[in-house]
Amino acid sequence: MRASLLYAPTLRETPAEAEVISHQLMLRAGFIRKSAGGMYTYLPLAWRVLKKIETIVREEMNAKGGQEVAMPIIQPAEIWQETGRWDVYGDEMFRLKDRHNRDFCLGPTHEEMITTVVRSDVRSYRQLPLMLYQIQNKYRDEIRPRFGLMRGREFIMKDLYSFDRDEKGLDENYAKMYDAYSRIFTRCGLAFRPVEADSGAIGGSGSHEFMVIADSGEAAIVYCPECNYAANVEKAELLPISAGIEVPDTLVEKSTPGTKTIEEISGFLGVSADKTIKTLAYQTEKGLVLALVRGDHEINEIKLQNQLNCLHLGLADETAVVRLTGAIPGFIGPVGVKDTVIVADATVMNMHNAVSGANKTDYHYINVNPGRDFNPTIVADIRLIKENDPCPRCGAAVATARGIEVGQVFKLYTKYTSALKATYLDENGKERPMVMGCYGIGVSRTMAAAIEQNHDENGIVWSAAIAPYQAVVIPVNVKDDAQMVLAERLYQLLNEAGIEAVLDDRAERAGVKFKDADLIGYPLKITLGPKAINENKIEVKVRRSGEVFFFETDNLIDEVQQLLSTL
Ligand code: ATP
Ligand code: MG
Repeated sequence: MRASLLYAPTLRETPAEAEVISHQLMLRAGFIRKSAGGMYTYLPLAWRVLKKIETIVREEMNAKGGQEVAMPIIQPAEIWQETGRWDVYGDEMFRLKDRHNRDFCLGPTHEEMITTVVRSDVRSYRQLPLMLYQIQNKYRDEIRPRFGLMRGREFIMKDLYSFDRDEKGLDENYAKMYDAYSRIFTRCGLAFRPVEADSGAIGGSGSHEFMVIADSGEAAIVYCPECNYAANVEKAELLPISAGIEVPDTLVEKSTPGTKTIEEISGFLGVSADKTIKTLAYQTEKGLVLALVRGDHEINEIKLQNQLNCLHLGLADETAVVRLTGAIPGFIGPVGVKDTVIVADATVMNMHNAVSGANKTDYHYINVNPGRDFNPTIVADIRLIKENDPCPRCGAAVATARGIEVGQVFKLYTKYTSALKATYLDENGKERPMVMGCYGIGVSRTMAAAIEQNHDENGIVWSAAIAPYQAVVIPVNVKDDAQMVLAERLYQLLNEAGIEAVLDDRAERAGVKFKDADLIGYPLKITLGPKAINENKIEVKVRRSGEVFFFETDNLIDEVQQLLSTL
């Protein structure tokens, strides 16, 4: 490609609306343009990167036995009504009607669609296992589309669905996909970590997310420096902390005016936060619920929601709290509350002579003893892990990091196949639901994540595998015939060798070309100046390391190929 023809409109200024570096750089380097919130046009450079990522994904999916299909983006409401997700999906689903007033949606995901395809054709165990995938646009009306391609409302996803006879088959396919994902992100040149992920009400050890480690990541993860444990904080398990033995004292109500927070009450009474019980009231579709954790701990709302098996969970408003307990938030507690579900973190049950709200504004109880003074409906792990908490596997202190979720693998078991009656006949002629898994990769998010992890003050740093072009050839002076003849020749040789190159033939100053080359992030910059002409020394600069090499014309292709294999 000649730079004079390449449609890569670069910008000098960083657009104000772009908060994260990948978004800024993709706008500045002429990769994308916004059409509406969370929707973008991919210009030629971005499209090339996306095609490369897709090729890697496709190769690895095919290698594991995946077969590519293409399903409609527009999906009929009926299949979503069959699984109940037409209502559950809520506002995130883009909905539309056809001229006959029939309901449709733009596919946010395709479990319903693929399962209805498979159920109409698969009859026998002999037709299983099956792994079908596609790479296409997905649509989610995200509440907060942001960070450019990281959280779009239209984005590219690879979604594979596996269908097996039994859980053993599912486990095998899950392991294959886990392996394929590790290979894909390694080939893309990303530093990533698979972490245990929340699998919602399905439970079990059924999901992993693949996280690209980056400070701008929206996900918080914990990992253990001692063993291999790593998990999304939403999922990370915690064992209850014990608190020794103490003789229970008499429950006493104390006047504690204006002490609404844990900090205020512990300061006022002169007790440490770990001697207080934090009580929060949540509204769910099943009614109000009280959740308890130790004062120095935080509630993990995902765990809480899984325990309650509810669809909606949010902090209750003050009016509802007062109606339930008689006190405003800050003075509520579990003692004396009737006919209300109380969920206590397991650590709370080990506390002695603790402080909690007295369900009377401006009052607290002291000497609260769980079991004696209140009995929760559910005792479970509902707390949020934090840095230095003990690893649930080996007990060492865990560390935290930020991650960008680029992929997720998920054991669905028979959740969708039961609802949609996707069954097969086993060896004994018995009808069984197929056992299903789903496996997604955010292709467009992966491109953004690669930039988040690989950039410097001058621009993007692509790894050779996913770079839009692998090299740029820059004649320093386009008016110099000798330089231009050599540039054309090298450009041709590179093309013939299958090395994707851009020839920067624009009548621009060399400085402008160098700047654009760094901004766009070509792995190699081949500069042709007087040295190349007079001494047959061609300068090749590595974008990532800044290393500079001089090669002779005859060796250039071999040397470039050699270099690229390391980038
Ligand atoms: P998130 O928690 O970030 O909203 P998700 O768990 O809802 O993502 P999945 O349903 O697991 O996403 O989708 C599979 C993959 O698609 C994700 O791992 C992610 O890489 C990508 N993805 C999901 N939502 C978006 C989005 N709004 N924009 C870009 N990529 C996305
Ligand atoms: Mg996910």
